Amino acid sequence: SDGRAQREIPFAQPGSLTKVYAIASGKGGVGKSSVTVNLAIALAQQGLKVGVVDADIYGHSVPAMLGVADQRPTQVDDLIMPVPTPSGVSVISIGMLKPRRDQVVAWRGPMLDRALVQMLADVYWGDLDALLLDLPPGTGDIAISLGQHLPGAEVVVVTTPQEAAAEVAERAGTMASMMHQRVVGVVENMSFLPCPHCAETGTEHRLEIFGSGGGARVAETLSARFGYDVPVLAQIPLDVSLREGGDAGKPIVEADPTAPAAVALSAIATRL
Ligand code: ADP
Repeated sequence: SDGRAQREIPFAQPGSLTKVYAIASGKGGVGKSSVTVNLAIALAQQGLKVGVVDADIYGHSVPAMLGVADQRPTQVDDLIMPVPTPSGVSVISIGMLKPRRDQVVAWRGPMLDRALVQMLADVYWGDLDALLLDLPPGTGDIAISLGQHLPGAEVVVVTTPQEAAAEVAERAGTMASMMHQRVVGVVENMSFLPCPHCAETGTEHRLEIFGSGGGARVAETLSARFGYDVPVLAQIPLDVSLREGGDAGKPIVEADPTAPAAVALSAIATRL
């Protein structure tokens, strides 16, 4: 210990008015970070004050997706100021706590726990309406730490339609429940590719690249297991502009809000 008294996590205090949502998945690459940033902006578009904590030790891709790839937080006394982004949400990333950007985060349980607490307690978030956490995929140390520090956090599980993805997503959901967190819903991403030639013929075929049913399966399994309704909050199609928006640091709900993928992502914000 460095001898300092640890600051309390404001979101864990009984009177906190901030809704905390953890975005979880069973495995990487299913679109968890994309859902996090777009949901954050959709909530901000409703007029809410939103913060994002990028706790994905493997990816920490959230700052780039929000257009602040190389920015570092400033410090005022011993408080860290979250990085403001062009879309109005503020962000702190576990990648920003590393001395060098190219350094690999090879921390283990206790250090990860401290990093998480630092991002929650030592960052000056102000009065937030919503705080979103992008968790690492799986059921690891960060998920356990979060459950211990913020049992009141609500969890959104992201999966693809694929059987193997759904199975590991169920485990991530069950883990959240073991930490006494409520799973508020499932987002099925990469649900289908709208047939690119259908516009010419007036049809609307869907190519089910990753199969179908994963989101519904996770929702049904978790509902049965927990004894409360865990709905499918959205089915998000594959969309090149979703990927491009992430790469360009301008998420699709802002860059192309009428695209079906953006509409589906925005709908999550109204259903939470
Ligand atoms: P995760 O956080 O689960 O690892 P990401 O959100 O980083 O996943 O997504 C992985 C890659 O897939 C990113 O390049 C992202 O832009 C892309 N992607 C995610 N969802 C979609 C989608 N619905 N359509 C097209 N590309 C997507």
